[in-house]
Amino acid sequence: MKNLIDDTYCPLCGNLECHADNDGWCLAHGWDCGDFHQYLNETSEPLVDIIHLQGDDYETAVDAANDQGGSTEAVVAYLAQFDYGDETDSVAEINGHTKFVELERLQHQLHEADHGGLHYWLQVDHGLRFYGLYRRPL
Ligand SMILES: [Zn+2]
Ligand SMILES: [Zn+2]
Repeated sequence: MKNLIDDTYCPLCGNLECHADNDGWCLAHGWDCGDFHQYLNETSEPLVDIIHLQGDDYETAVDAANDQGGSTEAVVAYLAQFDYGDETDSVAEINGHTKFVELERLQHQLHEADHGGLHYWLQVDHGLRFYGLYRRPL
């Protein structure tokens, strides 16, 4: 079984070359490596975590989406039923937002689709049987 995060990539920025050598010099970012990571985190958009489905719940979502043509839009439409709008945003305020850069650095597929006038990001890992849905705060 594959790890969620491939540890050959920097866990903070996802760059394969981002490793400090013994002198603290990063091949990707030089001495500014730490500043770069802080910059990434500060400028990255906060996203609301709508729903994560795994295992049987994931299979149910796959089947439901396949009945509707199996497109990214169909998956997002299925998962978006778990989006309770302001209520979901309130929960995210408490639990904390996911920074966009965190999604990008995970070694999952990331798709985008619109549904119900909102823009969603869909995280997919067919190997791990996993879906995650995100959007900007309302
Ligand atoms: Zn890095
Ligand atoms: Zn670096």
